[in-house]
Amino acid sequence: MIVDSTNIIRILQEVQPDEIYNRGEMSDVKVSFDSAEYVAIVDGIGTLRILEAVRILGLGEKTRVYQASTSELYGGLAENKNAAGFYDEKSPFYPRSPYGAAKIYAFWITKNYREAYDMFSCNGILFNHESPRRGETFVTRKITMATAAIAKGKQECLFLGNLNSQRDWGHAKDYVEAMWRILQQDKAEDYVIATGVTTYIRDFVRLSFAEVGVELVFESENAKVLVCNNPDYQLEIGKVVVRVDPQYYRPTEVDLLIGDPSKSKKLGWEPQYDLAGLVKEMVASDLAITKRLR
Ligand code: GDP
Repeated sequence: MIVDSTNIIRILQEVQPDEIYNRGEMSDVKVSFDSAEYVAIVDGIGTLRILEAVRILGLGEKTRVYQASTSELYGGLAENKNAAGFYDEKSPFYPRSPYGAAKIYAFWITKNYREAYDMFSCNGILFNHESPRRGETFVTRKITMATAAIAKGKQECLFLGNLNSQRDWGHAKDYVEAMWRILQQDKAEDYVIATGVTTYIRDFVRLSFAEVGVELVFESENAKVLVCNNPDYQLEIGKVVVRVDPQYYRPTEVDLLIGDPSKSKKLGWEPQYDLAGLVKEMVASDLAITKRLR
């Protein structure tokens, strides 16, 4: 629907919404390298279509628009962090993928419609947010699904790409609340939504396997079982359960993401989950799914 302006206009005319949350996007960074034009059309121009529909229909005073902006805008350049070592609302952007490049247009057109037409259109610059419902190709879910499947003897090994990048991961439930809060303010503004904590991919792997009683040891780029102390899962000590496969490397990588959540405190927003709680919930959910599939 986001590629179809006439339908957007028709639906907005019928619904006359108070709020629009534009989360319409192709959000897989790796896939965006192979479908760059599609991403530009959906993630970039799609945002323009919504804003323009609101404007054409004269809904500018009634309808508030939330744009799902992203930490991928920053590109992970060390020199662009603020003095405290975080990315904040003032940090320069340097997208490192067709996804990031498309989303940068969406960011600026959202801000421009706010300034040019006095619309209540805001960007939430959300850092990575995960949950048991995360798409299966994103690294967190890929890891928690594989943890469950390997523990239950349904999968031999997990193949991953770059284990050395770092991400600021929060829980999607917390982040959706922040999105809502952004649209409830008196003034339209852009906000970074993040936890302020960053973690290596390899440490997420460790945390995930720890949930099934498995301690891993990384040797070069492989991870072996060092300890398995859960009687339900009989993993052989020394078994290689994680290997690096370069097919998952990206042509350009975002090495480090860490957001400064200071401004989000103005929203009265406080995340309820930490990373440990998130990993626990995701692994438990994937263990239950693996059980049902048996
Ligand atoms: P992104 O931050 O929006 O790109 O979210 P992803 O979950 O797709 O990727 C997070 C990080 O994990 C990136 O630095 C990837 O390069 C890294 N990564 C390592 N192995 C994999 C993998 O097998 N799949 C994905 N999706 N990412 C991986």
